[in-house]
Amino acid sequence: MSLYGQYDPQNIFALILRGEAPCYKIYEDADVLAFLDIFPQSRGHVLVIPKAAQARNILDVDPAVLGKMMSAAQRLTRILVDELQPDGVQIAQFNGAPAGQTVFHIHVHIIPRWNGEAPEAHGRGKADPQELEALQARLVERIDSQAE
Ligand code: 5GP
Repeated sequence: MSLYGQYDPQNIFALILRGEAPCYKIYEDADVLAFLDIFPQSRGHVLVIPKAAQARNILDVDPAVLGKMMSAAQRLTRILVDELQPDGVQIAQFNGAPAGQTVFHIHVHIIPRWNGEAPEAHGRGKADPQELEALQARLVERIDSQAE
């Protein structure tokens, strides 16, 4: 799909938002949902998506929604850094297939990076479900502890 087009309500993130597909949720509020990428580029690869918007990319998202998505991404980046102690964090957001976008519901990637560890290919190898579950539990616990 190109940069322009109709929002497809059957895209995988729309299914996740409607509860029609599973996800390893780590955080949710009135505006955003955040969950682990199941084809992670690194340990702790998180996706942040807006809940209400039917926006495919940065061209058609409401700026207020974009702001909420980015503030949640910053907050979750701090959580990931505290929990996983990476050496760096990559924040990525792709628009249109030629730019690398594969799911056409706008989202931000948070990708922890470690010295000497090259990232996995984008959207390729599926993570071990047990590892994702363990990571989800650690991150949820840290988020909950900071909310108290
Ligand atoms: P994009 O390529 O559009 O920037 O990013 C889409 C991301 O969604 C990729 O990193 C890919 O690994 C991830 N992804 C694709 N399908 C699923 C899924 O069913 N569940 C989860 N959690 N992530 C997915």
